[in-house]
Amino acid sequence: MDFDFTSDQERFRQDVRSFLEREVPPERQAVFGVEGEDQYRFARSIDRKLAERGWLVVSWPREYGGGGLSQIEHSILSEELGYRRVPSTGNVGRGYVGPALMAFGTAEQKEQYLPPIARAEVQYCQGFSEPNAGSDLAGLELRAVRQGDEYVINGSKMFTSFAYHADYIYLLARTDPDAPRHRGISLFIVDLNTPGVSFRPLPYINGDMAAQTFFDDVCVPVSCLIGEENQGWYHAMTTLDYERSGLERYAGVRRTFDDFVDYCKASPTSGQPDRAVLRHRLAEVRVGMEVWRLLCWKVAWLQTSGAVPNAEASVAFLYGTEQRLRFAQMAMEAVGPYGTLGNESAAAPLMGAIEGIHRESMHLHGAGTCEIHRNIIAQRGLGMPR
Ligand SMILES: Cc1cc2nc3c(=O)[nH]c(=O)nc-3n(C[C@H](O)[C@H](O)[C@H](O)COP(=O)(O)OP(=O)(O)OC[C@H]3O[C@@H](n4cnc5c(N)ncnc54)[C@H](O)[C@@H]3O)c2cc1C
Repeated sequence: MDFDFTSDQERFRQDVRSFLEREVPPERQAVFGVEGEDQYRFARSIDRKLAERGWLVVSWPREYGGGGLSQIEHSILSEELGYRRVPSTGNVGRGYVGPALMAFGTAEQKEQYLPPIARAEVQYCQGFSEPNAGSDLAGLELRAVRQGDEYVINGSKMFTSFAYHADYIYLLARTDPDAPRHRGISLFIVDLNTPGVSFRPLPYINGDMAAQTFFDDVCVPVSCLIGEENQGWYHAMTTLDYERSGLERYAGVRRTFDDFVDYCKASPTSGQPDRAVLRHRLAEVRVGMEVWRLLCWKVAWLQTSGAVPNAEASVAFLYGTEQRLRFAQMAMEAVGPYGTLGNESAAAPLMGAIEGIHRESMHLHGAGTCEIHRNIIAQRGLGMPR
């Protein structure tokens, strides 16, 4: 593995950094989770500015509105966005729908769906999990039945992040209930304004608002099917592996850690002998942060070399989830009860960032639970039996 960036890549990082310093002032940064509609509108405005520069989908080919650069530039951008704590609009359209369409879509679908994503005009959410299908996703029950030139969709999806802001849902549906589980599933893009779609709010611990999304006789044209009917499982799993470096998540946590170190240094007691334990624990977390970063960059590097990382992505994801938890617990213990104060309190350290990361670190389930990532590492990484 080559750890050096080229001079062009370093220049790109500097350009992104200057752009973010100009456009994302400290009061706009996502320090303590989500802050409602105003923050979301700001996030959309940043997406549009990134799009104007060809950076929103910097690694997509130019013909689809991308920047024509590599996965390395994409990863540099992710790292800078995370470190600057730029509020996010989610990455379902850019990270999953786009790559799936490029790999399996028709020419018409590419023309219809890709440029609006690249221009930040539309938002997507992901409809995979269901009330009875999460880790065991292949057990999904939502049905899409072909009737003439349409599919009729019935069922519901669970934990649909960004449902309230999205225009389309990237949906897995069962199209053949008699086929073996993985072979009876298809992938669709569904316009959320279609009659029969409704939502029930699901507020997350970090302030995000997700939804249970219901489909009641929702009719969509067959042109909404992506790839082959009943091959949706394989299409979706292939593209899930594309967007897995996790650098944005790493960099957001790293920024809070760096701020926390500065906060500890500024404390009048930081040099006292009885603070040696704190210094050692900070050192341990620092080691973990370096390991996490390298694991993420390994995934990005594999992607650039044309490989589709799988077990490697799970190694980075699992390590990151647990490292974030370790840091959040360590910081909370170090500052004591002040760490439980949210950003509305003037006495909260780092404007509530300790309390914020503690809530964020409770998210152990999005993008696969820790147990599922352990299963992937054991089976696909180590070749152990199921
Ligand atoms: C913040 C957040 C955002 C999300 N966003 C979306 C989204 O936008 N779209 C979407 O479709 N989904 C989304 N999800 C859902 C997420 O993908 C699921 O929560 C996840 O796949 C786990 O499924 P489940 O909730 O049904 O839990 P379950 O699968 O029921 O798991 C419950 C527990 O059992 C363990 N377990 C299950 N199976 C095994 C096994 N084989 N071996 C060992 N242990 C096992 C799990 O690790 C877990 O601890 C989101 C979830 C969260 C928390």
